[in-house]
Amino acid sequence: MTADVMAEALVLEAPRTLVHRELALPETGHDDGLLRVEACGLCGTDHELFTGALAPGFSFVPGHEAVGIIEAIGDGAAERWGVRQGDRVAVEVFLSCRACPACRRGEYRRCERHGLADMYGMISVEKSPGLWGGYATYQYLHADSMVLPVPANLPPELAVAFNPLGAGIRWGVTVPGTQAGDVVAVLGCGIRGLSAAAAAKEAGASFVMVTGAGEHDHPRLEQARRFGADVVVDVLAEDPVARLRTETSAAGADVVVDVTAKAPAAFVQGLALVRPGGTMVVAGTRGSGDIPGFNPDLIVYKEVRLQGALGVDVVAYQAALDLLASGKYPFADLPRQIVGLDDAVELLETMAGERGVPPVHGVLVP
Ligand SMILES: [Zn+2]
Ligand SMILES: [Zn+2]
Repeated sequence: MTADVMAEALVLEAPRTLVHRELALPETGHDDGLLRVEACGLCGTDHELFTGALAPGFSFVPGHEAVGIIEAIGDGAAERWGVRQGDRVAVEVFLSCRACPACRRGEYRRCERHGLADMYGMISVEKSPGLWGGYATYQYLHADSMVLPVPANLPPELAVAFNPLGAGIRWGVTVPGTQAGDVVAVLGCGIRGLSAAAAAKEAGASFVMVTGAGEHDHPRLEQARRFGADVVVDVLAEDPVARLRTETSAAGADVVVDVTAKAPAAFVQGLALVRPGGTMVVAGTRGSGDIPGFNPDLIVYKEVRLQGALGVDVVAYQAALDLLASGKYPFADLPRQIVGLDDAVELLETMAGERGVPPVHGVLVP
């Protein structure tokens, strides 16, 4: 076997312009490494970058949810990450200098050197070595990267669910402090909603409700039952507040987790669902400041703890990998569309809702 000297990569040069390019593999040193990408999960950010809804204004290799095999690694990096050449790992989206006050507090997404700006899948291809994303056969592992060992029984196409499940764990449990016995309402039934439901159930929630909106969510709501949901509600067909009251005889949900995207109505529903003194986690963004029907006084009268959640962290990612490896929830059976580099555009258009029904999980296998 001769070692590759070039990586095959897709470079997003402009919205909808995903260009196949060959990029030279870097020489790695004591503190960095190189990942042979086996699979890269796709999420809403991917199709928003593709369509231009999010436009960083430079060319880059997209893909921020990579899993692969360590192809090369320096001694320093091996010691720091606790992995060796040949190990399968998942790569955290963000970087950490490990030295600034934010990093030392464990809040590495506020790292003074990297912050939210240095994010895999959104770094200029002009920045050496260019291989800053998972839409490529190789991804560069910077000295400030964070890599997590993947349990041996997890195939790469499944292991990439570490990202959405990590989000479900952080947003559904860690951030709101979900306790055993809690009544939890999860708004949204994409892979992050299903993940939040499973995470809440794992944390001991006594009752989990998952909501969707409309016909095209029905298959996902059916899936939700296998991910810990006791009840699923299509909010276009039924009032979720009335249903929660009937099912639980509780004054509302102890915890509401809103993972919807661009659904202003969900925010209003969340405030209606949360019990007085309860917690609402807002993880989905509205994409606009307008929330028809929003009554801020409800936050006062109910003394709602309203908490934003931005992204995930390595603690939640590690918990996600362990939960995936346990096989306790049927992530392996989720409808997923797996494509190679040549069909990335088709998958991204499907995920953007431009070609038929989007898959619950899209995965690129370079
Ligand atoms: Zn993502
Ligand atoms: Zn830092």
